[in-house]
Amino acid sequence: MLKNSITFLGTGGGRVVVFRQIRHSGGIWLNLEGTNVLIDPGPGSLVRIFEKGFDTRDIDIIVVSHRHLDHSADLNSVIESASESTKKPKDLLIAPLDVVEGDDPILLKYLRKAIKEYVPVEENKTIPYKNIQIIGTIKHIHEGADTYGLEFHSENKKVIYVPCGKFYEKMLEGYSENADVMIFNTTFPKKVEGYYHLSAEDVEKMIERYKPKIAVITHFSVAMLKADPEKIAARMSRKTGVKVLAAYDGMRLNF
Ligand SMILES: [Zn+2]
Ligand SMILES: [Zn+2]
Repeated sequence: MLKNSITFLGTGGGRVVVFRQIRHSGGIWLNLEGTNVLIDPGPGSLVRIFEKGFDTRDIDIIVVSHRHLDHSADLNSVIESASESTKKPKDLLIAPLDVVEGDDPILLKYLRKAIKEYVPVEENKTIPYKNIQIIGTIKHIHEGADTYGLEFHSENKKVIYVPCGKFYEKMLEGYSENADVMIFNTTFPKKVEGYYHLSAEDVEKMIERYKPKIAVITHFSVAMLKADPEKIAARMSRKTGVKVLAAYDGMRLNF
């Protein structure tokens, strides 16, 4: 049987934690049934990949949830590295349109040729790749950036990534139930008005609604680190009956 794993290259979120590197911010490396997916290559991703013993050349798909730099700053470096300076293009890039096109794209134009196929993520859009499917679920409300929820399905496994965004009603409708692993960008311990990020309170509602086998919280702000993600995860586990883990830099989860 093929091994499935998720490695958290970084777990920082929010301006201070990411841009002062209080926690790393290198995104998530998902191995699903032999396909390697790099999700949200934030600042430092290239370094963390090699530090964890991975190799960019093994990446099959790069997925960017949205254009904010904590999720995309190393996109160009990783593609340059993974494609051996465009000589060996990567199969697939999945990202919202404003990451690749428009006035101010994140992806440098000369690197377009380092990607065989670019598919924009949209609501309820399924993108097949070999033995897996990548699905854009609901549009998130996230300031200044097109952002979508993402699911990764194989025949037997389901991984869900809930990126940054403000909590609203659709958050309790748009995702699948009973995922093997459901990852939540849980930036704040409590709701903060005026911020377009999820809090532990919001995530608890989503866990109760979707009942994943394992939930992981990550993308922590200073407030979250002060409140102690481990304690918050333990409390969420007690309340929801679902196993909730607080991610730490370099954490690897086999499933
Ligand atoms: Zn963002
Ligand atoms: Zn973010």
